[in-house]
Amino acid sequence: MRRINLDHAATTAVAPEVLTEMAAAWALPGNPSSSHGSGREARALLEKARSTVAGLLHVEPGEVFFTSGGTESDNWALRGMAEGGSRPIAVSAIEHHAVLHTADWLEAQGVPVRRLPVTREGVVDLDALEQALTPDTALVSVMTANNETGVLQPVEQIGALCRERGIPFHTDAVQAVGAVPACELCAHADLVSLSGHKFYGPKGIGALIVRKHVKLHRLLHGGAQERGLRAGTENLAGAVGFAAALALAEAKRPGEAVRLAGLRDRLETQLFNQIPGLMRNGAEPRLPGHSSLRFPVRDGRALLMRLDMAGIDVSSGSACASGSADPSHVLLAMGLSREEALASVRLSLGRDTSEADVDEAAALIVRTVRAMQAG
Ligand code: PLP
Repeated sequence: MRRINLDHAATTAVAPEVLTEMAAAWALPGNPSSSHGSGREARALLEKARSTVAGLLHVEPGEVFFTSGGTESDNWALRGMAEGGSRPIAVSAIEHHAVLHTADWLEAQGVPVRRLPVTREGVVDLDALEQALTPDTALVSVMTANNETGVLQPVEQIGALCRERGIPFHTDAVQAVGAVPACELCAHADLVSLSGHKFYGPKGIGALIVRKHVKLHRLLHGGAQERGLRAGTENLAGAVGFAAALALAEAKRPGEAVRLAGLRDRLETQLFNQIPGLMRNGAEPRLPGHSSLRFPVRDGRALLMRLDMAGIDVSSGSACASGSADPSHVLLAMGLSREEALASVRLSLGRDTSEADVDEAAALIVRTVRAMQAG
């Protein structure tokens, strides 16, 4: 059976151009920390990747720290700023679990945690945020774009509020690459999390951008890699792939964002025209390829299973939580009931999505929903 992938927010396949560059890096024998010729060759490639990333993001190479992915970057940002202290941190209620569960862990260590509410539209409540910003705040963490609804958060305003008060601001921009211009991703925050596999790069490589005025605790003890803050032999092919994928995503971004928004709107229009009672979760502005929809069915879990059997890859929300029977914490934070959250499905389009995919998926979804309503 032909499968239609409408779950690009969970992950993306490595682009062929990226694979080619990675293959050359994998073939190198040297360790970037070795001082001999092979080591220097590997080091040069690693630093070239770092410089490419820095150039695209408009930061300095010394501000780019390669990590194993978005989860590690988020953990490091929060722990690196708050662990061992008693100053509060503030996180939005719709963050990825990589942020929320780290905040829970810090709370158990004695760090006060303020959880910021969001509006019904899925946007962080700026008044509540402003009230939470006491001068002793160690960190504010609000994502650039939500991974379930795709709703873009007001990071420019949040960055300004934090800067006026001298409070460090972290943003998880994992979902925003390829939609938000690369030069804007780090423009408003002091720390920024990124993950390669969300933009057609390899899994297991990410970056934490740490602006140079920020004092961050060491994450891993050992060798002197990543300026002594994250020990361990570097993932050279991963870093090369990350840089190549970021460059490609940025080159494709203007055309691709328009194309994806057009396809997403085409999909939504077909579904809204044929499914009375269908509702959208989250307001504009949102990521061009994202659509979170609430279906008029009693059993949302059965809808997901039936769509899977019909050959459509979709998810109920975050891929990391899709095995769980709990409704999405993002949708609950937006004020949806448990039933409404469970009847919601995230459709996310990507580079390989065609008009034919969208039309076929719409027809299959309509047929599936009607069958469930009839049964
Ligand atoms: N943050 C957001 C917003 C995400 O969507 C994800 C992945 O779904 C992560 C963090 C975790 O990234 P990784 O899978 O690279 O650990």
